[in-house]
Amino acid sequence: MIWDPFYECMDPEERRELQLRRLRETVARLNVNVPWYRDRFAERGIEPGDIKSMDDLAKLPFTTKEDLRDTYPFGLFAVPPEECVRIHASSGTTGKPVIVGYTPEDIGIWAETIARTIACGGGTSHDVLHNAYGYGLFTGGLGLHYGGELMGCLVVPASGGNTERQLMLMEDLGSSILCCTPSYALTIVDQAEELGFDLSRINLKSGLFGAEPWSEGARESIEERLGLSAHDIYGLTEIIGPGVAAECEAKAGLHIFDDHFVPEIIDPDTGEQLPPGEQGELVFTCITKRAFPIIRFRTRDITRLHYEPCECGRTQPRMERITGRTDDMLIIRGVNVFPSQIEEILLKMDEVEPHYQLVLTREGRLDNLEVQVEVSPGMFSDEVRKLEAIEEKIRERLVSTLGIRVDVKLVEPKTIERFAGKAKRVIDNREEA
Ligand code: ADP
Ligand code: ZN
Repeated sequence: MIWDPFYECMDPEERRELQLRRLRETVARLNVNVPWYRDRFAERGIEPGDIKSMDDLAKLPFTTKEDLRDTYPFGLFAVPPEECVRIHASSGTTGKPVIVGYTPEDIGIWAETIARTIACGGGTSHDVLHNAYGYGLFTGGLGLHYGGELMGCLVVPASGGNTERQLMLMEDLGSSILCCTPSYALTIVDQAEELGFDLSRINLKSGLFGAEPWSEGARESIEERLGLSAHDIYGLTEIIGPGVAAECEAKAGLHIFDDHFVPEIIDPDTGEQLPPGEQGELVFTCITKRAFPIIRFRTRDITRLHYEPCECGRTQPRMERITGRTDDMLIIRGVNVFPSQIEEILLKMDEVEPHYQLVLTREGRLDNLEVQVEVSPGMFSDEVRKLEAIEEKIRERLVSTLGIRVDVKLVEPKTIERFAGKAKRVIDNREEA
């Protein structure tokens, strides 16, 4: 089923006209309501009336994660925060998160694009949608939740964790769609095996998996063991959350809901737009949102775009699976982590030196992060208890900032490799699932 054939199957030329109208309106509104954008437009000598075709999108300035940090928390809001009804957050490059807001209208748009996402995965109002994305500031939980309700599914707001209980609920409630990160789907499979839970007791038909990169190998393994059709879904907080793009039954790329989010691919070094089919950095412009309509946001995600029609009947362009990032952001158990956040915390502590290493491993199916840091020479003693207390202090600070469990290991002074050029701080020992 296609949720909204009017927009999803629209003639591409007609959609370009629709995009242009919406883009012009958005630029005009930002020019009045957001001083930060007004200044950026002025620097380039751009007036809202200069946007005469979609090609003029390339004249507009980029917005980056650093810009979001500089305007924290409300500097890019296009409405007063009191007109918003919801806040979500995503990790920033340093201590402060990125804050985004939603008006009731924005929540409506989001529910629509999630309903389209669920329909891409074969969902209908008859489905029981088991939502194991985390509820809270993270967009996954509430994002899928509102879209599921709009579609008329029976939504089970399970959130993450407690796999045994998740299995019980899926069995007892007859869940037919599972929503979670691909790594959590694999964890569910593994824990079921450990618990001696026969997976044929649950009757899932499809899965909506995203928020982190995953491979075809992981897809095969999930589909085979859970007996469902696994769909890749993509989104990011700065744009709206999940519901930016989703794989239809053809599984030949993720349809981007470009009547709301206009994609471009650019060369990450020069910022120049690249033609369809070429690999580069994905950039999005929001043309319908009220509270947080971001212009040319640089996602740092690497992919390609395709504009050929799809066998499913949708005419919206498709992006390939994300193959990498242009920055050093790590995704650990679905949570974004920047090495700079960790460095900032370590640098504030007298007990340790600014020499550290992040070691990523995979335990079973779950990622594990160990922060190895050199203890200051003065602090180094044989007193194990003292060292353990320092480790615990660092661990607590990291956990409260990053929002995930981490291991901390103090190492002797001068044992971490020194670098002449660019430091290699991250050692990624995770293997392809
Ligand atoms: P989300 O709620 O989707 O995790 P965040 O804003 O926390 O949103 O993180 C967004 C980032 O997560 C994206 O820029 C991308 O790097 C990654 N991501 C999200 N969905 C996918 C996906 N399906 N495949 C690969 N990476 C993804
Ligand atoms: Zn399709």
